[in-house]
Amino acid sequence: NVRVRFAPSPTGFLHLGGLRTALYNFIFAKKHGGTFILRMEDTDQSRLVPGAADGIEDMLEWAGIPPDESPRTGGDFGPYQQSQRLHMYSQAAQTLVDKGAAYHCFCSPQRLELLKKEALRSRQTPRYDNRCRHLRPDQVAEKLGQGQPHVIRFRLQEGVEPFEDMVFGWNRHEVAAVEGDPVIMKADGFPTYHLASVVDDHHMQISHVLRGTEWLISTSKHLLMYRAFGWTPPTFGHLPLLLNKDGSKLSKRQGDIFIEHFTKSGSLPEALLDIITNCGSGFTNNRAGRNLDELISEFEVSRITTHSALLDLEKLPEFNRIHLLQRINDEEKCGSLVKDLQGLIEQTYGSHIQESDVLHSEYIKRVLHLRKGHIHRLQDLVTPAYSYLWVRPSVPRGQLEGVSSEADTIITLVLELIQRHSKEFTTECLNLELRGLAKKMKSTKYSGVMKFLRLALSGQQQGPSVAEMMVSLGANEICHRLQKLLQ
Ligand code: GLU
Repeated sequence: NVRVRFAPSPTGFLHLGGLRTALYNFIFAKKHGGTFILRMEDTDQSRLVPGAADGIEDMLEWAGIPPDESPRTGGDFGPYQQSQRLHMYSQAAQTLVDKGAAYHCFCSPQRLELLKKEALRSRQTPRYDNRCRHLRPDQVAEKLGQGQPHVIRFRLQEGVEPFEDMVFGWNRHEVAAVEGDPVIMKADGFPTYHLASVVDDHHMQISHVLRGTEWLISTSKHLLMYRAFGWTPPTFGHLPLLLNKDGSKLSKRQGDIFIEHFTKSGSLPEALLDIITNCGSGFTNNRAGRNLDELISEFEVSRITTHSALLDLEKLPEFNRIHLLQRINDEEKCGSLVKDLQGLIEQTYGSHIQESDVLHSEYIKRVLHLRKGHIHRLQDLVTPAYSYLWVRPSVPRGQLEGVSSEADTIITLVLELIQRHSKEFTTECLNLELRGLAKKMKSTKYSGVMKFLRLALSGQQQGPSVAEMMVSLGANEICHRLQKLLQ
């Protein structure tokens, strides 16, 4: 029974690194018919950011990888916020104390500070000297009786067992040789990460822990805790680092690493998931255009390599273009694109929108199908280059005459052409017709006719082919725009 979890600390917005960890957990769960759990590790009260927990869950939903069990959704193993499970951690810490695997430590912050300074002066890594390990039970009882402030520390044992990481293979860190005994319960009664995550992974019956590689060296410590409790540990897998294209670390100062940024700038979630997985490993073959179902079927945990993943966000527009095309081709998804685009048009042009059918879904759908593969984002369609689709251009007659002295002839011939096709036409037939039409002109060449019509219909000098413009605008609108220009 596969159960995996994404366990962020709600200290800020979800960023690409977090999304990547969540995504691999989601994919692993779905691949094995398992359960994907979201757990908030909110025990460091000083670093909590209001709204962050909700924001993280919102972003997972936006990305299309919602958790099966979470603070919001609930589940059989809740609560899913560590701050609501404090009793479990104090109970667990007491169990360890009773077993002699943990002990009360009464060292003052001043003493710890002094130890640290001494170590630094002699160029050593600061570590706790485990002094309180040696307190006698009566000394402990006395200090507790006096209400002396204290923490609980885990007694690190030597002789760590090797473990087989799903990504990094066999590993073992002799933690006791390099670290002092770690605090598992703070003076304020809150657990530290190590205790809380071990206790929760056990009680939530987590089968596999897939997390960032920065936790690899802590795993031996966690395994010692499992041993002390007498619990069977989950299987661990650590994901290699996610870095910028140039190998630098993703920094929270970069605006473009927060998922919220991508939701606002018109990125499609599937494009973001695709780009993240394409720069990483774990899949049969990397290519742009994979959707979540394909990611799940092509995923193999044994294919994850230990190399850092280099994220190339410059490729995002291209990924987005491909996924936008796929959405447009999917009838159901296209329906929601139509709604989004309607919203964008109203927002952008308001009362300037021409009073005709432009907000009708048939019209918008036609535009989407004609422009798919050319646009990178839905927003592209509300840039000035495409405003002619939604707002009638005003083109001075003089400007048109600058392009061709045969303005009225061109206009009349096009109006006739449209009548002849009983108002239905395709780009192919229009292309033929327009070639034929140009031959009838005395002094205007084919390219001149095109330039003229593009300007007359859209007010633009550049853009899609004239035939495509005409198909998108439709017969009625073409007639309306051209007739206005006749003298
Ligand atoms: N709360 C830890 C973090 O923010 C979770 C680490 C883990 O998955 O065990 O990275």
